[in-house]
Amino acid sequence: MKKKSGFSIHTLGCKLNFSESSYISSQLIQSGFYLSDDPDLIIINSCAVTAAAVKKTRNLTSKLHHQHPEAQIFIIGCYSELEPQTALQWKGVVQTFGTKDKINLIKYLKQSTIPEAPYFYSTYSLTDRTRSFLKIQDGCDYHCSYCTVARARGESRSDSIENVIQNIQTIANQGIKEVNLTGVNVGDFGRNHGTSLYNLLLKIEELQLIDRVRISSIEPNLLSKEIVDLIAQSQHLMPHFHLPLQSGSDTILSEMKRRYNTKMFADKVHYIKEKMPDSCIAVDVITGFPGETDLLFNETLNFIEQLPISYLHVFTYSQRPGTPAAIAPHQVEATVKKERTKQLLDLSKKKKKQFYQSQLNKTRPVLFEEINHNNTTLGFTDNYVRVKTAYSDDKVNQIIETLITKDMLVYDDPDS
Ligand code: SF4
Repeated sequence: MKKKSGFSIHTLGCKLNFSESSYISSQLIQSGFYLSDDPDLIIINSCAVTAAAVKKTRNLTSKLHHQHPEAQIFIIGCYSELEPQTALQWKGVVQTFGTKDKINLIKYLKQSTIPEAPYFYSTYSLTDRTRSFLKIQDGCDYHCSYCTVARARGESRSDSIENVIQNIQTIANQGIKEVNLTGVNVGDFGRNHGTSLYNLLLKIEELQLIDRVRISSIEPNLLSKEIVDLIAQSQHLMPHFHLPLQSGSDTILSEMKRRYNTKMFADKVHYIKEKMPDSCIAVDVITGFPGETDLLFNETLNFIEQLPISYLHVFTYSQRPGTPAAIAPHQVEATVKKERTKQLLDLSKKKKKQFYQSQLNKTRPVLFEEINHNNTTLGFTDNYVRVKTAYSDDKVNQIIETLITKDMLVYDDPDS
């Protein structure tokens, strides 16, 4: 495909996908392609983490084909890794690229050839002036019984520390103040290079290349005390943790093939809070895993209720083809799953309110963004409280020590 064309790119799913889409987009623009509302080429970076995500990918493809019947559609990412033949049957779809070779779409569009997929490629987003998502790791060697992500993304592999540092420097050179280290299993960073996430964070702390660094999510068993201690004494590593709990029942955790139990999880949370009482701890939970009785769900509810966590990301379990959990007995009724999700979302609201209110009348550094809605701008504190204040040009992309007051708190931000 030698002729340069207008393209649009659409991203579903995780921050890793957003980072990769941003990279693909900037590479195509550098090669002479241009973003267009009436595209010749449509790229859909798909997600397959839940049945709902697959449905969204299919619906989006159909909608875009309907709007742009002449455009060539490329499905890339997790869905096309798992079910490329199905994706190729969707109207308008001309080619698929899985997760390992999605980066090859760039070369394919430039030269109509598909080179060999690299073992690991780093990407970072540059669409936002204040923060960037930097991919440092990909794939996963765990085999959680409900998960298709590990299959879609392949084995665990990471960037080198040197390359991550170089990428952070490049991001900082653009004037971006915050970088979010992303991956599928970030805590596993470095294992294939004989190093570790701790060593990377130590290097980042030593070099101080950028004002703020966040870690997107870390498996509880991989969050060591030394990482928590390092973050606790750092000005650059943010006191903000994202921990996938998935269930507060040891019976369910064992069925899920997770690598921790509730005691280990609770110990980690308490240790973080002991070292950083104001830290934010976001927690992922899945409702309606096969075999989750009312009793076991209540264990989860009670476990979360008594933990000092800040808010939840709640996912309703859906059967993913090819996973052991999909064929497990005692699947939970859809209405029951829905009700449990609602209960956890209500608990999350309560937790978030408590956490936000615990920050009132404290002074925290806020990174303000380039948003000017009704003369207000939004920002995040170091400990991930979403706040708003009157807009002024000189606040944009600045970190400002700010007294947090009641009318500044933004509870329902989709980004937090
Ligand atoms: S840790 Fe488990 S849930 Fe997360 S990507 Fe790996 S296999 Fe999937």
